[in-house]
Amino acid sequence: GVDLDTLQRWLRAFAASVAEHKDELTDLDAAIGDADHGANMHRGMSAVVDALDAAPAADPAALFKQTGMTLVKSVGGASGPLYGTWFLRMAPATGGATTLDPETFAKALRAGLEGVVARGKAELGDKTMVDALAPALDALDAALAAGESLADALRAASTAADEGRDATTPMVARKGRASYLGERSAGHQDPGATSAALLVAAAAGSVG
Ligand code: ADP
Ligand code: MG
Ligand code: MG
Repeated sequence: GVDLDTLQRWLRAFAASVAEHKDELTDLDAAIGDADHGANMHRGMSAVVDALDAAPAADPAALFKQTGMTLVKSVGGASGPLYGTWFLRMAPATGGATTLDPETFAKALRAGLEGVVARGKAELGDKTMVDALAPALDALDAALAAGESLADALRAASTAADEGRDATTPMVARKGRASYLGERSAGHQDPGATSAALLVAAAAGSVG
C-alpha cells in the first residue's frame, strides 16, 4: 500500500522536478500565456515542502489537505486553485486510511481530477492540464484492472500523461489565458499539461 512517507516522497519529488523544469514551464507559458507558470508552480511546491518540513501531516488525508491549502494560498493564477483543488479533493477520498491500497490511491487521484474539472470546466481537447491528467488516470485504472502492480500501472499512467501533454501542441486553447490567442495558441505545448505530466512522473518514480 501507499503510506504517508511514500506520499511525502512523491510531493518532494514533484517539487524537485518543478524546480528543475521551472524555466521550461515559464518559456512554454511565455508563448501562449503570461510567462509565470514556472514561477507559480515553483513558489507553490516550495511552500508545500516548507509546510512538510515544519509540520509533518498525521495521515494521507491531512497531507493532501495541507498541500491543497498551501497551493491555493501561495499560487496566484489559474494553476494554484486548480492544483489546490486536486489535492483538497484527494483528501476525503482516502477515507481516512493511513495506508492506501492501489485502488484507493487511484480513486483519490480520480476525485482530484473531478475537482479540477468541476472548478475549471475544461473538457478533453481544451489544451489544459486535463489533457495530461485524464488519459493518465484512465491508463492507471486500466492497468490496475488488468492486475498490474501499482508501480507498473503508474509507469503506464506516466507514459499516457506524456502523450497527453504532447497532444496539446496542435490544440487550440479553449480555457485559460491561452484561449485569448484563439487559433494562434496552436503549435505550442500547454504549460499546465507539462507540469501535470511531471506530477504523474513523480508518482511513477516514488510510489509503488
Ligand atoms: P495563469 O494562466 O493564471 O497565469 P498559470 O500560468 O500558472 O496560470 O497556469 C496556466 C495553466 O493552467 C494552463 O497551461 C492550463 O493548463 C491551466 N489552466 C488554465 N485554465 C484552466 C482551466 N479552466 N481548467 C484546467 N486547466 C486550466
Ligand atoms: Mg501564466
Ligand atoms: Mg499568471
